[in-house]
Amino acid sequence: MTGLSHDDWKARAKALQIRGQAFIDGRFVDAQSGRRFDSLNPATETVLAEVAECDSADIDLAVVAARRAFDDGRWSRKPPAERKAVLLKLADLIRANLHEMALLDSLDMGKTITDAATIDAPGSAHFFQWYAEAIDKIYDEIAPGGPGDLALVRRVPLGVVGAVVPWNFPLDMATWKASAALAAGNSVVLKPAEQSPLSALRLAELAAQAGVPDGVFNVVPGHGASAGKALGLHMDVDCLAFTGSTAVGKLFMQYSGQSNLKPVWPETGGKSPNIVFDDCEDLDAAADMAAFGAFFNQGEVCSANTRLYVQRGIRDLFIEKLITRAEDMQPGDPLDPASRMGAIVDAGQLARIMGFIENGRYSAELVAGGGQVQINGKGFFVQPTIFADVTQNDPLAREEIFGPVLSIITFDTEEEVIALANDSPYALAASVWTSNLDRALRLSDRLHVGTVSVNTVDALSAQTPFGGMKQSGFGRDLSLHSLDKYTALKTIWVKYRA
Ligand code: NAD
Repeated sequence: MTGLSHDDWKARAKALQIRGQAFIDGRFVDAQSGRRFDSLNPATETVLAEVAECDSADIDLAVVAARRAFDDGRWSRKPPAERKAVLLKLADLIRANLHEMALLDSLDMGKTITDAATIDAPGSAHFFQWYAEAIDKIYDEIAPGGPGDLALVRRVPLGVVGAVVPWNFPLDMATWKASAALAAGNSVVLKPAEQSPLSALRLAELAAQAGVPDGVFNVVPGHGASAGKALGLHMDVDCLAFTGSTAVGKLFMQYSGQSNLKPVWPETGGKSPNIVFDDCEDLDAAADMAAFGAFFNQGEVCSANTRLYVQRGIRDLFIEKLITRAEDMQPGDPLDPASRMGAIVDAGQLARIMGFIENGRYSAELVAGGGQVQINGKGFFVQPTIFADVTQNDPLAREEIFGPVLSIITFDTEEEVIALANDSPYALAASVWTSNLDRALRLSDRLHVGTVSVNTVDALSAQTPFGGMKQSGFGRDLSLHSLDKYTALKTIWVKYRA
């Protein structure tokens, strides 16, 4: 829990001072065009802040500042231990401003204040700390060679890293990119999602306060088709780290081909299977986590476990358990610490989710939820929704809905469920519930996804890579492997008189 009451959070929200300007070269600035767009609170449908509507001119400014900072070495050539000290300070500042960071995300995109204050904001501090602590403990290589040859294989920062991120975990997605890219010595130009730019802007301000030099971390809010595209096409951006939809991930690959062949790291959509075998010993835990895996963050999670495969013998019992859990997770005011689900990010996403639910009523059995809700007469809320007897080719089972909609498919055999689980254009994550170790390991071998969680869902940590295969993209965030994206291998070969 957050330690604050609903009234406390409301009072803090009211008192919040929000900056909506872009953060370029160490200071807040308006878009050069002077244009702004409204950032809406999806729980109340009111304007939260006016945000600078940046476009290619502002992206240019930010890239020039980032390049200048990279080239003069104010960050890129600092000893790793000095970068570490600054990033540790940033982690401390995030913790010191934890309530504010949590509020910005909750108000901007509708997630519950409990999740924002106990998962997202502490997570951001943790990831900055983790990369800070790692960066002065990584050694380069010396290649095997004979006398007279000393070949060093070094990892060097790339230069200007562009990052384009989605709205579902605004602070954490910005953090996953920026923490590793900055630790490695790059300059960063980050474009947050237009639905949720506020926490990233505050993060940039805190980074400057911690000692990240001017121009090293720039946050440029704006729309995808203008600001995002300009970053993707920029000739002086050395790498583009993207998290978002598969369709836009494909665009970034094209932008690279049309411009300077920058490496693009897409981390895109998902439709993760969660497989529950009848030999699972703790069906209550499986049901708790199946509901969490589908409804956490309003189901707006790339790795959400939205395809639930239940073995026939436990189907009825398991569905009963899930219905109870769905009933306990009804949406509420995101600022109420008791709420377990918040608002959907915007009206467009709400309409998309409701479209899937309405069509699903004809093709499968609706066993829980299905309704749109308002809280205090306002807002974009959807009940946790469960469909049973979904068929494998139903859009409910194939498409990423990105809302609180769980589709249940019944299966008989292990072979059958492996084939069904792998039958998807996405391959981000999968979960398996069984008490049979052989079976768990067999499934882990054969599920073709980025992460297999056994007897849990969505397992992730700073220490383990997160990302997918197939059309879930091939980028990896988190772990030391993420540093591969933000560094290049450089060989330095020294000839000496042996
Ligand atoms: P989105 O693809 O619509 O937007 C993501 C970002 O791309 C935003 O900043 C947006 O402004 C920008 N963008 C949009 N159109 C663009 C264009 N034409 N050119 C350049 N940039 C453009 O995704 P979203 O709706 O913000 O987020 C939801 C998606 O993110 C889901 O598909 C989800 O699975 C995915 N996601 C993936 C991961 C992962 O790690 N694999 C994590 C979180 C979210």
